[in-house]
Amino acid sequence: MSRRPLMAGNWKMNLTPAEAAEFARGLRGALLDLPAVDVAVFPTSLAIPAVLNELANTDVVVGGQDLHAEVKGAYTGNVSGEMLKSAGCGMALIGHSERRAYEGEAGEQLANKAKAALRAGLTPIFCVGESLDERESGRTLDIVLGQLADGLGWLTESALGKVVIAYEPVWAIGTGKVASPEQAQEVHAAIRAWVGNTWSAGAARSMRILYGGSVKPANVAGIMTQPDVDGALVGGAALKVDSFEAIVRFQES
Ligand code: PEP
Repeated sequence: MSRRPLMAGNWKMNLTPAEAAEFARGLRGALLDLPAVDVAVFPTSLAIPAVLNELANTDVVVGGQDLHAEVKGAYTGNVSGEMLKSAGCGMALIGHSERRAYEGEAGEQLANKAKAALRAGLTPIFCVGESLDERESGRTLDIVLGQLADGLGWLTESALGKVVIAYEPVWAIGTGKVASPEQAQEVHAAIRAWVGNTWSAGAARSMRILYGGSVKPANVAGIMTQPDVDGALVGGAALKVDSFEAIVRFQES
């Protein structure tokens, strides 16, 4: 089965609402003839309305960078999946390594966030990845598959069908050190095999698995040649329209 690529730009804590709107206007023009690729952008919560406004009536999906597991309540500083959905979002990042590292997110908390995204009707992009130490001590697959089991292992097969997985080695995020296509493929293949063993061969075939970590116009095509890589989650290189456009158009280069 052929899986449609997904190219996603995570803007992190960058771009004011006005700057994000300007970016979205540029993206709208650049992607008028969108190739056969799904595209998503993840602005800060504050910039979501402006970006949605600029991207109205396009196929570009706008998502939240995080969500709280509860629908509403006394959770200062948080945003719920229902709020993202009602604002017009279609996706949410969950378990990004920066949230794991700086906010201490892990395990059951991330499972609850994935559950909350699905409850709200959002597609979760569930992020996993090993540190350099973990890779160098030969524990990459244990770490990555453990994070997946903790976060997604409770899903029914039909719920799993609404999830996207992003493999993002921590040592490659924002460092300029991209995983080689072979390193990415090895982990993606293991993730797909885990999905197959945990649910079914059909679930494994249809699961979209993105690679993230220093993806740029110059390296995206090589990574996308790998059979188990179905797209990219991009940080730094998604902050300029021309470089994000080049990544989205990787098939044309
Ligand atoms: C990310 O933050 O998800 C990411 C992959 O960042 P970068 O592309 O800058 O490494």
